Amino acid sequence: EAHHGQLRKSGEPYIIHPLMTAELLLYLKPDLITIQSCILHDVIEDTPQTKEDIAARFGTDVAVICEGLSKLSTIRYRGEERSVESLRKMFIAMVEDLRVIIVKLADRLHNMQTLEFHPNKEKRERIALETLNVYAPIADRLGIFHMKEQLETECFRILYPKEYEKIKQERKELEEEQNFFLKEAKVIIGKVIPAEVPIIDISYRIKSPFSIYRKLSRKEYSYTHTKDLYDLFAIRIITNNIPRCYEILGILHNVFVPMPKRFKDYIALPKENGYQSLHTTVV
Ligand code: MN
Repeated sequence: EAHHGQLRKSGEPYIIHPLMTAELLLYLKPDLITIQSCILHDVIEDTPQTKEDIAARFGTDVAVICEGLSKLSTIRYRGEERSVESLRKMFIAMVEDLRVIIVKLADRLHNMQTLEFHPNKEKRERIALETLNVYAPIADRLGIFHMKEQLETECFRILYPKEYEKIKQERKELEEEQNFFLKEAKVIIGKVIPAEVPIIDISYRIKSPFSIYRKLSRKEYSYTHTKDLYDLFAIRIITNNIPRCYEILGILHNVFVPMPKRFKDYIALPKENGYQSLHTTVV
């Protein structure tokens, strides 16, 4: 009702945007209030309806989140590197309810996915840079890695279109091989780890396009192609406590030859966002 008659730059009815945005965050299993706030997230900003109108129909929580989202949209990235960290901090400080950030990230993701409808190339690049420097790091810090990767992929596509196409193609060519390898590896791991060591889950991931790009462009390595990377395929084994992590690592290093200098103990030395795990590369 509030967006009735409004159109997106793509020419679609405006309501498609908040609905698609809500769909993007459903995998996080948000509560009803988050979903409602997400569908209403542009109402205060872009329509005559007010916070009070939303409160009257959807309750105070939804209205407060919508107002928080409207306030956040006043923060702008102007391209100075040194302001990035303060921008991120300001972002977090302005938000009293974490659900505001979750909706904001999904909102930005959908805007990135539809950014080609933005007529101005410079503006598109400014928005992509802001997403890369402010939004993706916030998603990373919060541990919402899937959304971080999606945001980065969209930025990569807009900022470095040639490199994006190259890596996407190289990655696709390796995909069949990868899936075969990873399935095999999962079966073998299941066999070598004894039954008394509980494995909660074994999953695998293929390195994201932007992450591949970042690694290929690091000067200390001499990688030129996607297939040169050691960590293109990764297997994640989840067990039930920390000693078990080291135990599984020991078993794997006994069965497969570990590569020198490819081991990282993020349990003893967690990443900045609190991430903890053991990384190794084996032949
Ligand atoms: Mn929006």
